[in-house]
Amino acid sequence: MSLLDRGARAFFLSELVSGMSLTLRYMFKKPVTLNYPFEKGPLSPRFRGEHALRRYASGEERCIACKLCEAICPAQAITIEAEPREDDSRRTTRYDIDMTKCIYCGFCQEACPVDAIVEGPNFEFATESREELFYNKEKLLANGDRWEAEIAANIAADAPYR
Ligand code: SF4
Repeated sequence: MSLLDRGARAFFLSELVSGMSLTLRYMFKKPVTLNYPFEKGPLSPRFRGEHALRRYASGEERCIACKLCEAICPAQAITIEAEPREDDSRRTTRYDIDMTKCIYCGFCQEACPVDAIVEGPNFEFATESREELFYNKEKLLANGDRWEAEIAANIAADAPYR
């Protein structure tokens, strides 16, 4: 750039003007950032969030204690104990997931023959202590009760691609 060009640019403040016009243009554009947590982006039906144990509409828990999720879990995060009930049905007496070990691979959900253990859409479950991430059956069933509508909608949306 010649000395004359540089002098003219400095005299007419052209760099300042072009910078300010860029700022002004962006002031009227739609922002690309979200005002989290008040705004959230869309989530895929396949999103793998916090785990939940689901129930049937009758209220009966779905899990039949087949232990396929426990066997397939690569992180060995799941612990299940089961006993037959008086009506000869098989249900878990203990269903624990150590969420500090879980790698959210989704294998447990894939292995489950009755869609009992699922990874729901909740990704906001940070805790203050490590112990709070040791989930037991009651916690997982409560998650299922809380998120059932969203989980059922996600499973239905994903069904054509399974
Ligand atoms: S998502 Fe993967 S690592 Fe986590 S509990 Fe299920 S099988 Fe185990």
